[in-house]
Amino acid sequence: MSTALVTGGSRGIGRAVCLALARAGYDVAFCYSKDEGGARETLRLLEETGAGAQPFLCDVTDESAVKEMFSALLGLEILVNNAGISRSGLIQDTSFAEWKKIFSVNTDGAFLCTRQAVPALLRRGGGCIVNISSIWGETGAACETAYSASKAALIGFTKAAAKELAPSNIRVNCVSPGMIATDMNAVYTKEEREGFVKAQPVAREGAPEEVAAAVVFLAKSRYITGEVLRVNGGALI
Ligand code: NAP
Repeated sequence: MSTALVTGGSRGIGRAVCLALARAGYDVAFCYSKDEGGARETLRLLEETGAGAQPFLCDVTDESAVKEMFSALLGLEILVNNAGISRSGLIQDTSFAEWKKIFSVNTDGAFLCTRQAVPALLRRGGGCIVNISSIWGETGAACETAYSASKAALIGFTKAAAKELAPSNIRVNCVSPGMIATDMNAVYTKEEREGFVKAQPVAREGAPEEVAAAVVFLAKSRYITGEVLRVNGGALI
């Protein structure tokens, strides 16, 4: 049994990753913290693929809930740290609580899940972890400093964990998406989103499925670790 756990699977990129991994032959578990309706829909779509499917109501910032989720998982081979939140605002308008909230989901959540996954992957003899960072973690976004910093931290975490875990046959990689059409960007108008992507070589938003394909590629690429795979229409060339 090969199980993949995707955090933040109730919509957007996480849901697409769940479905792509199911179609690639994995049983899929996923978690979410609030979006019950979205989680039901992901479960329904997963069941249509015929793969095993297991939803967890689990906030990745809750240490004991994360432990409980991992204790209920069988056959873990892949962890995708996808759960994330964003917030726009000037530095001087960002409260310390908001800064910490962004880090707690985007960075601490990935650490807490990875810490629980490693012993299971060691028992299995190996596996892989894919972290979902962001173009802003690579290049920085004005008015999104907390988000950018939390996603940059995830890249550092990926590289360090890749070195630490490679001798145990556990690969750790990152996918760094550009502007992807999900609810996360619903705060921007259509014009703002078009303005962002029009200077890119591939001048359109990406689809969640295009990020999911990169996750499956990394899951299957046994000689790639510590890598940051950009899925951004060439935005950083
Ligand atoms: P989204 O549509 O807002 O989905 C976010 C997912 O994360 C939801 O399933 C949400 O479910 C879950 N989540 C949020 N907080 C959580 C928590 N504390 N515990 C567990 N689950 C939690 O966002 P998305 O665009 O798909 O983004 C997915 C990932 O890609 C994020 O890490 C994001 O930073 C990254 N990314 C997105 C873009 C983009 O343009 N969309 C670009 C670069 C990187 P609940 O609401 O139920 O908790």
